[in-house]
Amino acid sequence: MKFSEFFIPTYREIPSEAEIVSHQLMLRAGMIRKLTSGIYTILPIGLKCIRKIEGIIREEMNRAGAIELLMPAVQPAELWKESGRWDYYGRELLRFKDRHGHEACLGPTHEEIITDLVRNEIHSYRQLPVNFYQIQTKFRDETRPRFGMMRCREFIMKDAYSFDTDEDGANHSYEKMKRAYYRIFKRCGLDFRAVEADSGTIGGSYSHEFMVLSDTGEDQIVACSSCNYAANLEKAEIKTEETTPAPDIQLAPIEEIATPNAKTIEEVTTFLGIPPNRLVKTLIVRSDEETVAVLIRGDHELNEIKLKNFLDAKEIELADEKTVMDITNAPVGFAGPVGLKVRIVADMAVKNMVNFVTGGNKKDLHLKNVNLERDFHVDRFGDLRFITPEDKCPRCGKEIRFLRGIEVGHIFKLGTKYSEAMKAVFLDEEGNERPCIMGCYGIGVGRCLSAAIEQNNDEDGIILPVSIAPFEVIVLPLQIHDPSVSKAAKTIYEELNKEGIDVIFDDRDERPGVKFKDADLIGIPVRITVGVRGIKKGEVEVKLRNEKETKTVPVDRCSSFIKETLNNLYHEVSPINPELL
Ligand code: ATP
Ligand code: MG
Repeated sequence: MKFSEFFIPTYREIPSEAEIVSHQLMLRAGMIRKLTSGIYTILPIGLKCIRKIEGIIREEMNRAGAIELLMPAVQPAELWKESGRWDYYGRELLRFKDRHGHEACLGPTHEEIITDLVRNEIHSYRQLPVNFYQIQTKFRDETRPRFGMMRCREFIMKDAYSFDTDEDGANHSYEKMKRAYYRIFKRCGLDFRAVEADSGTIGGSYSHEFMVLSDTGEDQIVACSSCNYAANLEKAEIKTEETTPAPDIQLAPIEEIATPNAKTIEEVTTFLGIPPNRLVKTLIVRSDEETVAVLIRGDHELNEIKLKNFLDAKEIELADEKTVMDITNAPVGFAGPVGLKVRIVADMAVKNMVNFVTGGNKKDLHLKNVNLERDFHVDRFGDLRFITPEDKCPRCGKEIRFLRGIEVGHIFKLGTKYSEAMKAVFLDEEGNERPCIMGCYGIGVGRCLSAAIEQNNDEDGIILPVSIAPFEVIVLPLQIHDPSVSKAAKTIYEELNKEGIDVIFDDRDERPGVKFKDADLIGIPVRITVGVRGIKKGEVEVKLRNEKETKTVPVDRCSSFIKETLNNLYHEVSPINPELL
């Protein structure tokens, strides 16, 4: 590829529309241009990177036995109604009607479509297991598209769906995908962790997210400093040991205390001069049709996802002011468990508390020295809060660390959620009809590129891992009008090209400074500089984008030197043995 014949519109200024470095650099390097909110044109070198990532994904999916197909972007509403998600998915689903008035949507994910295909085509255990995948454009009408390709509305995703006859098979399919994901992200040169996660709106029972570690990541991760436990903050389990109160602790008599206008934890604890961990918050929550009181220690935060799973509810939300008034006879801020007529559930940490403070179910009133069982009854205890830095690893009890991550991939065990709703059944060996057991597996292709740039850059620009860089090598002649330079540069370029190396020849009539800056900005891993002085001695300079020093290489050894260099660079991103992970 010749630079002059390609299209790489770079620029130097930092674009004001971009908040994070990967977004800035992708604009500056001429990889993407915004069309409208969350919708981008991918320019030629951006597309080259995307195609390389897709290539890695394809190889690893094929290696893992998945079969590629391509499903449509437009999906009929009927299928979404069958699965029950038409009403449930919310406004991320872009819905419309065609000229015949048929309702449809732009696919944000393809469970419905693949399940429809499988129920029509697969009828016997002999045709299973099967895993179909595609690399296709999704549309999600995100509330806050941002950070360029990191969170957009239209984006390329690899999505795969496995179908098995039994649990063991489904687990095996899941593990195979997990290993394939390790290989994919490793080959993309990403520094990542697989973390346990909640299944969200896709539904299902078990899932892992693949998180690229980065301070700008939107997700918080909790990771053990010692064992390999890692989880999404929402999912991170807390193991609360039950403690027995010290023998000298007496249950003190309950007392009413006036707390005029003290409603928040901060106001109440300041007013009473106690630390927040001596107080119990009582949250009144609507859980589907039921109203429930949820008790959480004053310094802890309720985790609504844990609560929703704990109550096995479809929907939960904090009760409105009127409900709080009806249930507690007091405005918001004074609820307490004593005398409440609704079911009470509590976080495990509350179980270890004695003589605590709660709301008094009356305006401007709190209660002191409240105690479990003596003063009220908790229906069920559970892990209902967010983990804190004081908590320990739920697996090994060691310190935990809080990290930030970018979710590049997500794998789910779906079970029979879709196959039952949509009747994707097969006949087993005994001739019984059974629903397929499903799994689904996504990777954000554009987000992988953004994440790689977010992790690999410096003040000069992008430093892409060789496996996903737009070119492997750039040949940069300093004096293009000098015949010896341009001839040598061209020969090297042609030789590398012949070797199948992805090389770009900067044949532009530009100052060396401009060429160097562009090569660095775009992030080409290997640069060969050809100049008058070197050529006189039969030498060129080779510099790696991620190293400071340059090496002098004889022209006649250039090609073999570059091949060796690339081999080493590829070795750095070769997959580690998945058994070790
Ligand atoms: P997020 O929590 O970031 O919105 P998600 O849980 O909705 O992600 P999935 O439904 O699991 O995402 O989709 C699979 C993968 O697709 C994600 O892991 C991510 O890499 C990618 N992805 C999801 N939403 C977007 C988006 N708006 N822009 C770019 N990539 C996305
Ligand atoms: Mg999302």
